[in-house]
Amino acid sequence: MRTIIVQTLNRQLVNGRVQQAHGQDRQAVTSAITGEQIAEGVLGDATDANLAVEAARQALPAWSATTLDQRREYLQKLADSFAARREEMIDALVEEFGTTTATAAYIVDQSRDWFVYAQKLLIEDTFTEQVGRATVHKVPVGVAVLITPWNGASWFIAMKASVALAAGCTIVIKPSERGIWQAQPVLDAFADAGLPDGVVNVVFGKGDPVGNILTAHPDVAKVSITGSTATGKIIAHNGVDTMKRVTLELGGKSPTIILDDADLSHAVPFAVQAGLFNNGQACIAGTRILIPHSREQEIKQALADAVAAMKVGDPRDPDTIVGPVLDRDQYDRVQHYIQAGVDEGGQILVGGLGHPEGLADGNYVKPTLLTATNDQTIAREEIFGPVLAVITYRDEDDAIAIANNTPYGLHAYVATGDVQRGQRVARRIQAGRLMINEIVDAPDAPFGGFKQSGLGREFGHHGLAAYLETQAVFS
Ligand code: NAD
Repeated sequence: MRTIIVQTLNRQLVNGRVQQAHGQDRQAVTSAITGEQIAEGVLGDATDANLAVEAARQALPAWSATTLDQRREYLQKLADSFAARREEMIDALVEEFGTTTATAAYIVDQSRDWFVYAQKLLIEDTFTEQVGRATVHKVPVGVAVLITPWNGASWFIAMKASVALAAGCTIVIKPSERGIWQAQPVLDAFADAGLPDGVVNVVFGKGDPVGNILTAHPDVAKVSITGSTATGKIIAHNGVDTMKRVTLELGGKSPTIILDDADLSHAVPFAVQAGLFNNGQACIAGTRILIPHSREQEIKQALADAVAAMKVGDPRDPDTIVGPVLDRDQYDRVQHYIQAGVDEGGQILVGGLGHPEGLADGNYVKPTLLTATNDQTIAREEIFGPVLAVITYRDEDDAIAIANNTPYGLHAYVATGDVQRGQRVARRIQAGRLMINEIVDAPDAPFGGFKQSGLGREFGHHGLAAYLETQAVFS
């Protein structure tokens, strides 16, 4: 019998020390590539959560009193510390959640860059201004809890931590329990950066109990979460008794509208990239592709051809475009939705149930396009895998009505031969970010959702403001 010895991941960062979790809850950590167990994660408990908040509370007065120059220096140390762990972070992302090496490198480089961008936000005018007789000060809100998902742990953690620390808040980070492997080098990068004890704390744990304790804790002033809409609602409830400030970055079911004047040689790769980035495991994915009735057959064929041409396989292979999904649960979830699409009358244009040929090990799924109407399950619910619903519309007004007929409002994409028309259409869509003909990387422009995609905005000045309270002083 083969004995597999797996590593135990039971470290937390509390009050400047890397220490073992008090919690004893264990769970398997698996590779997306092989499906095999690669480690055992130990999750924190109520004691771990309370200790982390206490450390952040004690560190707050000194940290919030640091000068902007001092904070800039510490942010640079964090950027350097993340850079030093670049390769480890990339490998961990690829192994645990199956994103390609190229995408992982992009995610990790931007994780480091968040600490550089945050330094540029630290200008005196942001923190003090004169309004009539009032001197208006922006002060750190207090201890902030940062809760992150598994689809690129380092990116979400760095994005939130960089502005929270820049604002003068001390933080408790709770990475996803489904992303423990990816979060290990991130924990090390924080531990190595040499910030004062208690300024950054990292605890692992599930929503219950650790997440619930952190987000209801009376000493916590602010919670920022990126996760599902269901979790965001629980967190908003948890925080209401102590009136916590919340930033909620939640789910999406974003539309990509291909207008009837679109050049398909451009529109089809744009729609496919918007839908299948990160193996479809992206909140901003354009998972409903809306196509005009007048060009229905031509566009369906072009979309199917483009998806069929994408190489599915080992995410470490440079030719791979679509790797595996996170774990067995995610695989089953994707299969469930493909089946639901078929059961409700959808036609599979490409892909379908089961593993792709030759990829029976690991969590590989077939990138799938299914026809749907906007009231069907696959057009309404977030799948979080490479499955896209293709929906036919009659005319421009119908396209906009379909795009808006969703509880979500995170992103939208418009493909058109006429940019001004694209802008007119995009502005009628209820979503936080609207991309016309190209996917733009804009870490300084506001990011966030309308409707049940969330509350508040992140990135740039908008992101920093979410960690500041406003005080008007009259004298
Ligand atoms: P999830 O909601 O299951 O978990 C997210 C985080 O919330 C995890 O750390 C989890 O432990 C924590 N959590 C769960 N219950 C909690 C509770 N009661 N109290 C406190 N914390 C709790 O989401 P996931 O599966 O990790 O990530 C996928 C989801 O995240 C998708 O819905 C996706 O759209 C969304 N997402 C949104 C964005 C965005 O920017 N809007 C980005 C990426 C992912």
